[in-house]
Amino acid sequence: MKLVRGRPTWGSMALGIAAILVAAAVAPRPTHADGDHGAASRVIRSELGGGRYDLWITLTPSPLLAGQRAVIKAQIIDRASGATVRGGRVQMAIPDWMPPSLRQVSAVPGTAQQQLQDETEQERLVAIGNLWVKVRAAANVGQVLPTLATEVAPGVYALEFTPLAAEPYDLQVTFLGPVDRLLPDRPPVTVSLPVTWEWPVNPRLILVALVIAGTAVGGLIILRVRRDALAPGERFNFLALPWLRRLVTARGFQPAIQIPLLLFFAVLVFVGLADTPLAGRNLATKLTWTIWWAGIIFTFILVGRLWCLMCPIGAVNEWTSRLAQPTRKWPKPLRNLWIANGTFILLTWADVQLGVVRDPRVTAGIILLLLVSAALTGLFFQRRTFCRYLCPITGLIGIYSMLAPVELRAKRCEACHSHKDKECFVGGPANVGCPMFERVWEMDSNAYCNLCFECVKGCPQDNLVLRLRAFGADLWAASRRHLDEAYLAVVLVGASLFLTGEMVQPWHDTLDAIIGRLPLQALGITSHKAVEALVNSTMFLAVALVLIPLAVLAAAAVAQRLLAWTGKTHDLSEIFTVFGYMFVPIGLSMHLAHNLHHLIDEGPGIVPVIQRTIHRFTTFSVGVPAWNVPPLLSHEVVYWMQMLLFMGFYGVSLYAGARLARRHFSNAETTFRAAAPMVVVSLFIMLLNVYVLSQPMSARHSH
Ligand code: SF4
Ligand code: SF4
Repeated sequence: MKLVRGRPTWGSMALGIAAILVAAAVAPRPTHADGDHGAASRVIRSELGGGRYDLWITLTPSPLLAGQRAVIKAQIIDRASGATVRGGRVQMAIPDWMPPSLRQVSAVPGTAQQQLQDETEQERLVAIGNLWVKVRAAANVGQVLPTLATEVAPGVYALEFTPLAAEPYDLQVTFLGPVDRLLPDRPPVTVSLPVTWEWPVNPRLILVALVIAGTAVGGLIILRVRRDALAPGERFNFLALPWLRRLVTARGFQPAIQIPLLLFFAVLVFVGLADTPLAGRNLATKLTWTIWWAGIIFTFILVGRLWCLMCPIGAVNEWTSRLAQPTRKWPKPLRNLWIANGTFILLTWADVQLGVVRDPRVTAGIILLLLVSAALTGLFFQRRTFCRYLCPITGLIGIYSMLAPVELRAKRCEACHSHKDKECFVGGPANVGCPMFERVWEMDSNAYCNLCFECVKGCPQDNLVLRLRAFGADLWAASRRHLDEAYLAVVLVGASLFLTGEMVQPWHDTLDAIIGRLPLQALGITSHKAVEALVNSTMFLAVALVLIPLAVLAAAAVAQRLLAWTGKTHDLSEIFTVFGYMFVPIGLSMHLAHNLHHLIDEGPGIVPVIQRTIHRFTTFSVGVPAWNVPPLLSHEVVYWMQMLLFMGFYGVSLYAGARLARRHFSNAETTFRAAAPMVVVSLFIMLLNVYVLSQPMSARHSH
């Protein structure tokens, strides 16, 4: 057969992708948390008859799966002869599983412990009731009364059992002796049977499919880019892909995402108010803080402010302003991030002091408050004033988005300058004017672009491009620098350092030592918890707002002095503002590392929370919630992922620092003098970050 070499066709590529996807689909399920592979059996060993016999228990599947019929097999081996005992009488029993919280009978009525007990029992009964309908035809569901096991093969005694809870069950085995020689009464031997739950979808399949889909899309785009001959130095414009352009400029594109998300927010508010006040079990808190807030940061560094395109709060702001058509502009002195920075710090402080985000009612309240504020702002001020100047996380999203490797920009700024109508900014028949008040002909940063594509819809000259660029490019390439952004960047370094430091044991030991030295009794203070929260939140404000900014300011002062020796005078705030941007990747690396821990460690806990919520509010059965759900990856793997993040982002920070110094200070000597103190401070902070993450986690921390 003749082999013909040539360019791959679309058909052959699609076939290849389909083949890989099929292979991934039939991939075996992942290893269970206890180290077993798939359904292979592991032997649980014990002894019987006062040490005369060995007892071997095997499970199929292993570990057992909640709601699935399983077979438990026992083999009894005579230690003296080494032979398997055949024709024996083996009695097995499994008592009904009882949640540990219910076993503690000391709970005082009306306390949180009692509430947890009631809640656990109630949901257990509902969930087990639902599961029972499915498995009632099976034998021995949920428990086994003392039963003689069947000898299914010579010396192998078996029993069917269907566990209902994904928790360890106790198996009691009594060897009554060979049929011809009954043993004297002996207490049963108890072994613990591991039970877990099954992921509804193979998570490895999802991961593999995502990687393949990402690679395939990337590959197709690269092929397409190579096919369209680009001039040297020209970058591929994604808006040149007709399907993408049609999609993002379609009239219903944004509402099709915003409306379902707004409805989902309404569900979250309802669940936050109506469901359990226990944060770890309420969908509103779990989804908002453990999943959304922990995960959303990752999107900023990949696709900029794309979240803002779909955010229901931003949507409400824009819809009300389009309806009310206010002509009022936001006051000029307030057109900056200071108010947004203030509300962000206030919210974070309130969390440290009062734990507000760990309360479902408060979480629902925060969502409602933001929705109402956005609507009111839209009634009185033009466009998305709330998103641009007031949203508590707008500054954070903006400065993190500066790292994203995609940008929407004007292709030729001269074309914009000579174009009088400027539909992109003022609006036109096909679009509304930029909701974020961006002038695309001046825009050289991702910080405030929501990727809403209104400017693309309106530009009659097709002068906008969406293209890839260097990761973090805005940090050094943007022409304008702002003190509010630089200060926020530095504050975020302190905030993420403190909030992660607060999770580790040495911090709690230090806190206890500090509190131990305070004259609390003399002051009549009895609540250790209240004092701990007060000291904690004071330290948060000190580290985030004062200590870290002061360290960077001190470095700026040293740089100013070093520059003065060369005869150059520079304003202190100018040096602080320029180099503040090199601290964005440092704060971000700690923020990502912190959130990675939450996502991997606590993220899977969303599964029982969803199960529980469905049982609580619907009649569907989705299995018994298993609250001891394991983390997705081991702590060691997470630790090394965090270290990789640190290394990568510190590299970006140093590169940004060097580029900023070269751009703002005239020659090699002044560049070095300006940058050196900043490098020292940034290195010190990075070492602190590494130290904090290398400490053992405190048992007192929870999200
Ligand atoms: S700025 Fe805030 S409110 Fe506006 S779209 Fe973005 S996240 Fe939503
Ligand atoms: S610059 Fe364009 S894409 Fe960005 S927010 Fe304004 S209108 Fe939307």
